[in-house]
Amino acid sequence: MSFPVHRPRRLRVSESMRRLVRETHLEPSQLVLPLFVCPGEGVRKTISSMPGQAQLSIDQLVKECEAVHALGVGGVILFGIPETKDEEASGAYAEDGITQQAVHAVKRAVPGLIVMTDVCNCEYTSHGHCGKVVERGGVHDVDNDATLEWLAKTAVSHARAGADMVAPSDMMDGRVAAIRAALDADGFLDTPIFAYAAKFASVFYGPFREAAESTPQFGDRRSYQMDPANGREALHEMELDLEEGADLLMVKPALPYLDLIRQARDRFDVPIGAYQVSGEFSMIHAAARNGWLDLDRAMMESLTSIRRAGAGVILTYFAPDVARALA
Ligand SMILES: [Zn+2]
Repeated sequence: MSFPVHRPRRLRVSESMRRLVRETHLEPSQLVLPLFVCPGEGVRKTISSMPGQAQLSIDQLVKECEAVHALGVGGVILFGIPETKDEEASGAYAEDGITQQAVHAVKRAVPGLIVMTDVCNCEYTSHGHCGKVVERGGVHDVDNDATLEWLAKTAVSHARAGADMVAPSDMMDGRVAAIRAALDADGFLDTPIFAYAAKFASVFYGPFREAAESTPQFGDRRSYQMDPANGREALHEMELDLEEGADLLMVKPALPYLDLIRQARDRFDVPIGAYQVSGEFSMIHAAARNGWLDLDRAMMESLTSIRRAGAGVILTYFAPDVARALA
């Protein structure tokens, strides 16, 4: 017997009633703000395709991290933009590299804020690819196993600088195991790995490439990032990363891949993360600027949906705005 016995509208009659039965909540403590750090002092270089976001020099980054921590945001993830790039991505694993210096400065100023680092090479290579490029029979591609060495060195250098967690985003096979072994060998047994386990070759990264100055100079990333059509393969990738020692698993982007966040939540018993990427963020801003969407409501609804799908940790450029809205 359904209607008229069951009337679901009874539980929607007022905001107090709706609040009482609400299933999903956003917590600032589970949000991570991505930040871009660049050389110099007093630098705040606006990223035109990402409203409100900027490349920050270390002094400005520290101020931003203090503000974000005061708002109750759980953490930040740092992306470095080095002074110079080369074929070997040497800036990625240099002891005094931009990210290493930034981690050190932020951890000293705001020890209570979780500082994660993106572990990849694309911001540091002159060609913009995520690893060592080799030529085989006239075709350029990223060499998987040679790249693992760079990633392991980079992760260790971030841990030495004080990073609370490292997050490899390169999509090389075997990178989690390589990073785990290198961290352990250097004494960082307790540094977790947040694997960008299911990272798709997505059009929604567009604005980020301006932000991180990491557009590939030739070709694209489809020989290492995943085909957006493949869900089962994404679960396979996650399973492999877990076997290799990943502590958290990430799905990236978030909103177009909610099905995979849900499946990952149901299948694996580790924290599942999702990255609401630059394109997801900028689309909402663009529509709001046109008067087509309410910015705050679109922000909250998109993030609530990512939570409802099963993400416990969300990387989002909206993190401080959400914290302010919830305060
Ligand atoms: Zn990369």
